Amino acid sequence: MDQSFIINQYAEDRENYFNAIAPPLVQTSNFAFPTVDAMRTAFENEYGGYLYSRGLNPTVEILRKKLAALDGAEDCLLFNSGAAAIFAAVISQVKNGDHIVSVANPYSWAQNLFNEILPRFGISTTYVDGKDIENFERAILPNTRLIYLESPNSWDFELQDLKAVAELAVAEGIVTICDNSYCSPIYQQPATLGIQLVLQSATKYISGHSDTLGGVLSGSKSILEKIFNHEYLNIGSGIQPFNAWLLLRGLRTLPMRLKQISTSASTIIEYLETEPLVEKVIYPFHQHFPQYQLAKKQMQGAGGLFSFVLRCEKLHEIEKFCEQFRHVLMAVSWGGHESLIIPGCAGIQKADFDPKNQKHRMCRFYTGLEDAAYLIEDFKQAFASINR
Ligand SMILES: *Cc1c(COP(=O)(O)O)cnc(C)c1O
Repeated sequence: MDQSFIINQYAEDRENYFNAIAPPLVQTSNFAFPTVDAMRTAFENEYGGYLYSRGLNPTVEILRKKLAALDGAEDCLLFNSGAAAIFAAVISQVKNGDHIVSVANPYSWAQNLFNEILPRFGISTTYVDGKDIENFERAILPNTRLIYLESPNSWDFELQDLKAVAELAVAEGIVTICDNSYCSPIYQQPATLGIQLVLQSATKYISGHSDTLGGVLSGSKSILEKIFNHEYLNIGSGIQPFNAWLLLRGLRTLPMRLKQISTSASTIIEYLETEPLVEKVIYPFHQHFPQYQLAKKQMQGAGGLFSFVLRCEKLHEIEKFCEQFRHVLMAVSWGGHESLIIPGCAGIQKADFDPKNQKHRMCRFYTGLEDAAYLIEDFKQAFASINR
């Protein structure tokens, strides 16, 4: 299906709502039935129709069909956040006594699930360096049920060879999950490379306007129907109709926003490489990125998120640099209209700052929709503050 068709027309049924161009926001908690028989059918198969909005909802359905199609998957479920999608996906695949192999340093709340919550239920996790397929092979135990991936990750952008890991997992009868938030389905479709469950934080690029959270979990109809009937309905963190409506609105402009953002990111990176205070830039589509070939093979683009290492010996210089920006905001998250920066040193105690540790001198930058020249001017005056 053509991407433009999916985004503009697919799953919309305008004749059923007054030929309105924008789909209606069906802000209802429940649905009425004309007969007992109809109600019985809905009880028997909640996945097949509208009963109660903790399950399915017509506004959510439109978005659900579009996002599954963009992911190249049969179906998807929408959650109130990416973290909720991670939680439901992982716990749906494991039971007491099982073992998980995860790529090292996945999203922080995936780590919390693996390190703090799952061990209470007898489920253990081994982290592996995901750059080499052999590390996955070596970590697999007889009780391994799940391989958890995030490619690229959202801090230093390490990749895994998704096709190779998917093939290994299928041969071993192990389920694969991949967090695809960095790329969004516009730049990578892990399901088409053989990954069984693909998730992303819709809070980022799908929303695009920093005004709602959301999570997407895509896969086969049979896996998702099971997750719907158990984890999805039980956890009760399905997306709210209004948030789905906002995400639908964000989705209309997703490809052109990403195009603009990627172009600006490249322009800013070119500038940063001329800046003496920058030791290096880390970006999957950068020629010197260690996994550049793999990035080019499995991703169609690299988006607006990159990191750079400052050539600064003193913590206060890095702090001053980040506080000096006039147009770039210091905040978590990304994917919206506004450019953002996070210094790695915000995640450590001041006394622990070690200039020999690159991560302490690293900043993560998200390129928003502002003009690249406008952002470069802001960088220049922020760098000037370090020399003062
Ligand atoms: C933001 C993010 C999440 C979590 O999504 P929320 O919508 O914030 O819950 C998961 N994975 C990655 C890579 C993210 O960047």
